Amino acid sequence: MDNLLKTNRSKRLFEKAKRSILGGVASGLHKSEYEPYPIYIERGKGSKLYDIDGNEYIDYMGGFGPMILGYCPPAIGEAVIEQIAKGSQFAAPNPFLNDVSKKLTELIPCADLVSYQGTGTEANMVILRMVRAYTGKDKIVKFEGHYHGWSDEEIISFTSDLVRMMGPRNRPWKTLGSAGQLAKSGEDIIVLPWNDLELVRKTIRTQRHEIAGIITEPIMLNCEVVHPKSGYLEGLREIATENDVVLIFDEIITGFRLCLGGAQEYFKVTPDISSFGKAVAGGFPLAGVAGKREIMEAGVHPGGTFNANPISIAACKATIRELEKPGIYKQMARLTKKLTTGINRIAKKRNLILYCDGIESIWHLAFGIRERMSDYRDNFKVNKMDYQVFRKGCLERGVRLHPSRGRFYVSAAHTDEDIDKTLSVVEEVLGRMSRSKGRL
Ligand code: PMP
Repeated sequence: MDNLLKTNRSKRLFEKAKRSILGGVASGLHKSEYEPYPIYIERGKGSKLYDIDGNEYIDYMGGFGPMILGYCPPAIGEAVIEQIAKGSQFAAPNPFLNDVSKKLTELIPCADLVSYQGTGTEANMVILRMVRAYTGKDKIVKFEGHYHGWSDEEIISFTSDLVRMMGPRNRPWKTLGSAGQLAKSGEDIIVLPWNDLELVRKTIRTQRHEIAGIITEPIMLNCEVVHPKSGYLEGLREIATENDVVLIFDEIITGFRLCLGGAQEYFKVTPDISSFGKAVAGGFPLAGVAGKREIMEAGVHPGGTFNANPISIAACKATIRELEKPGIYKQMARLTKKLTTGINRIAKKRNLILYCDGIESIWHLAFGIRERMSDYRDNFKVNKMDYQVFRKGCLERGVRLHPSRGRFYVSAAHTDEDIDKTLSVVEEVLGRMSRSKGRL
């Protein structure tokens, strides 16, 4: 494949970066975008990003999710600049924290109270602690392929290279996620496959005396995209209630992304406690916990130097104000639908085996399957090599997709023109792939 991108400056910067940054990048995913070096982004505006070599991309990565309003939304910039002029960190609450917190409790169905952290990893750590403090029990049920952060207890059975390494479906083995992780990190975590209510019911019934909570992403978004089967979330709710087990939704991605009240509003299933992050502050670092009063007040007092720092809270306030404007979610969903319908039309015309669909502003594309995935193990049916050829072809033609999994976001700044341009790039790349049997 001819290299259509000029990336000399990125390449040179990376050579220098390796001298002072571990691995040369702040996240492994940065590098995998254009292996063996990352693409250095200089600035973003609306739906577009511009790299250091002058290339322009229509972006569907959304900065890993937070950029729901696109890049540099003026209202967020203004609110943040106004706050910077007053100060960025006080070791004291800022006067408008109450307004924001009240608003969050009004918007998030399970929220009697909220607390703040800086990242999703921390928010979910706090939740596990709260749930254990509240129930006096230790074990947590989590699901294969769900990502809740990278602390020792969170990064259990997130990825596995081979399906046969995962053990039998009804009794999966636990896999660790990082060098240096305590081997016993998973001792109190019970891992189950997702979307299988009977397995959850059986496990909880037999171990309810030691299980404190069930943690789940309401849509599985960290391994392609897996939707909950009809009745699944409702079933989890029922099982948790019947057995005095706390139901936890990890809404780090879905919160403020599906709608203002997150997946719990969207699917009309209210957990006992949930996390929020990413989209809540339109690109500034903020995450937190929302939940029932009795669990939130079980005695855990989360630390964190930058918790609810005034800059992130100002960004959060402005983001919610923007997201509350009529039609924003509808517009993102309409464009997502236009895009996925267009991609399916192109794939059908070329007889390609490809699955593409969307939910609100989140969309999914996977090669080698024709149907919606049902759990993590289905992800082994996806043709990752074809995806990489496709993704690189798109990137070189100015459309930026996720470096490793087929999950993407449309923002409030995307336009019909962006979608039309994206579809013409997809048409060209898929056309070339189908003519040359999977290569470009
Ligand atoms: N939960 C989910 C569902 C996530 O997708 C992520 C991050 N991608 C996290 C938790 C961790 O969030 P953070 O990267 O902010 O620590």
